[in-house]
Amino acid sequence: METTKVVLTEAEKFAAFLKPMIDNGFRLVPRREKTEYQKAIDLTPPEGRPKRPGQLPLIYTHITGMKVIVWPTFAPSIQDIIPVGEAMGWVLIISEAGKVEYFNPVKRVGIYWNSLKDSAIACKQRVEHRPRCKECKKFMNIARRHNVLKARFWRCEEHPKEREGWDHGVSPKKLAVLKIRRKAKALYRAKRRKAGKSTDRAMLIRKKWEKKES
Ligand SMILES: [Zn+2]
Repeated sequence: METTKVVLTEAEKFAAFLKPMIDNGFRLVPRREKTEYQKAIDLTPPEGRPKRPGQLPLIYTHITGMKVIVWPTFAPSIQDIIPVGEAMGWVLIISEAGKVEYFNPVKRVGIYWNSLKDSAIACKQRVEHRPRCKECKKFMNIARRHNVLKARFWRCEEHPKEREGWDHGVSPKKLAVLKIRRKAKALYRAKRRKAGKSTDRAMLIRKKWEKKES
């Protein structure tokens, strides 16, 4: 018996990605709001960054103002994804002061839409369950482990001994998925290292948007 393989368009894949994102409290930022925001903070794209047809971000905002921002590389204007090589998926956590506290580049290969969704929802769950300090009851902030590019944990600014693990608040179901992905990534990195190739390239070459000199 012949089976028919259903091939989804990128627009259909994006729609399937969008649904659980919206269900998890993300919203798609309208184009006008994105432009107004960039104008307000006077941002210009980094030199040499290829022009991208307007992809729109998804945002989850916590009551404290901490945000999870997702750049899906899908541009509604062309109903397609931006060509590979010009953009990759990103999941960012931004503090209430507007500082990037965590960033995860997601390669546009294989199970891209699932990887992006799982990373985004895990970050949303971390921020949603942002831990409070046992001493002063204030919300903890994201701290970085020394010499480990992506390792983070929660810490109270006033009581640095008060800490919480990075996976605090992530549902057991999501955590199980993340653990499988982490294992696969670790294997991939070990293989590259053995071959004398670099790892985490995208995170090191990501250029920052800059404020205009006026
Ligand atoms: Zn404290």
